[in-house]
Amino acid sequence: MESPLPVSQADAVVIGAGAFGLSAGYQLAAHGAGQVVVLDRFAPGSQTSPRAAGLYKLIQADETLTRLAQSSIEVIRDFSDATGVPLPFVQSGSILAARTAEHAALVDEEAEAAAGWGIELEKIDEEGVRRIAPYLTGRDIRSAYFVPGDIYVEEPRSLLDAYMAAIAQLGSLVLGDAPVTGIIVDNGEITGVSTPHGDIATPLVIDAAGAWARGVGALVGVDVPVAPVRHQLLITRPIAGMSPHEPIARIVDASAYLRPARGGLMMGGMESDPIAIDPRLDPEFSIPDMPLDMRVLDELTAALGPLVPTLGDTPVAEHRGGLFTMTPDARFLAGPVPGVRGLWTATGCNGSGFSISAGIGRALAEWIVGGEPMIDLSSLDPGRFGPGPIDDEELTSAGLWRYANYYTPQLAS
Ligand SMILES: Cc1cc2nc3c(=O)[nH]c(=O)nc-3n(C[C@H](O)[C@H](O)[C@H](O)COP(=O)(O)OP(=O)(O)OC[C@H]3O[C@@H](n4cnc5c(N)ncnc54)[C@H](O)[C@@H]3O)c2cc1C
Repeated sequence: MESPLPVSQADAVVIGAGAFGLSAGYQLAAHGAGQVVVLDRFAPGSQTSPRAAGLYKLIQADETLTRLAQSSIEVIRDFSDATGVPLPFVQSGSILAARTAEHAALVDEEAEAAAGWGIELEKIDEEGVRRIAPYLTGRDIRSAYFVPGDIYVEEPRSLLDAYMAAIAQLGSLVLGDAPVTGIIVDNGEITGVSTPHGDIATPLVIDAAGAWARGVGALVGVDVPVAPVRHQLLITRPIAGMSPHEPIARIVDASAYLRPARGGLMMGGMESDPIAIDPRLDPEFSIPDMPLDMRVLDELTAALGPLVPTLGDTPVAEHRGGLFTMTPDARFLAGPVPGVRGLWTATGCNGSGFSISAGIGRALAEWIVGGEPMIDLSSLDPGRFGPGPIDDEELTSAGLWRYANYYTPQLAS
């Protein structure tokens, strides 16, 4: 056996130290769950989460997601006061906009629904877009809304570091180079996990292994239906006059998003012909080695065209990417797993896991410690697809479709 773990017993073990696992670990410890151990196969916080754009979004597809988005922003806003650990974020607000009639109708519908769920927003015209976000020319805008409550975290790594510092302060542990290779079950109940460094006895395990979550579920015969799909973004070199307080922009017809970043612009978006990558097929796979393709971002830049002319004219300073975990219905998998007492999942990010993991972690901790979550998570029930397993090809093709139609599933179906 390799050098032993510093702990052999815990009240809860979280598998995966990304945004989901660290959020759940922090919230469990903060809610008084006892000794929590977050394990990661690599360095904690080194896979998809530090590569995210760091955007939070209050306009969501339904009321549950809206509540989780509100809760997530609240967690981030209150984090430093609650923990004493600094966590910088920018309340830039965001613009949701469209340049074709059909996309404009979609944006209008989403805005109306969000307003009905209590989200503050304001309809703006081309001139309003230019005024609030000078990096956008406003050209061809058919419908646009400004959402003042949206925020971004400039460096996603800072959130992961903040969670780790808060977990340590609460006396719990985050351990890297500790892959979970087995989940021990006795009579249908979780009793522990195994790693090459030894076992940890525990009655509670959360599978928050991101792109590896399906493989982790399989250790205990549970299907965790996520299809990992590649996603990329770029950050330009600094642009004269760019302010960090200009808003995030989501341009629905281009399937692209933008925000100020490091004095320049960040841009990412959904490719129409996305690539699925299954880490189960290569035990050595890790996100830093994942191949990237600048052509995808060139196409998105072209699709944004005269709305963001500076984008094509400014050299790229950083190009990065990671894996979304797509589910067949584009909803998270968050809650207890039917059939194995003590096993929970927190995954199925569908592109919003960096932000919404803050609210999901809190809701799961409330549920585990207090008996019920403050937000009804029944629509995210990990068991909703049945015992499975869902056929690999079927799951991948559903995930790719969900990714390609990320902003516009209603138009494609
Ligand atoms: C380019 C890009 C931009 C994005 N932008 C945004 C955004 O603006 N807003 C937003 O909300 N979301 C965004 N996302 C999505 C977001 O990044 C993900 O939803 C989120 O980071 C997923 O977190 P995670 O914890 O599931 O995954 P990860 O960060 O990958 O963490 C999972 C961890 O599990 C570990 N693990 C795996 N198997 C095991 C095992 N057997 N034992 C122990 N540990 C294990 C891995 O090593 C890994 O560290 C973006 C994603 C990308 C790629």
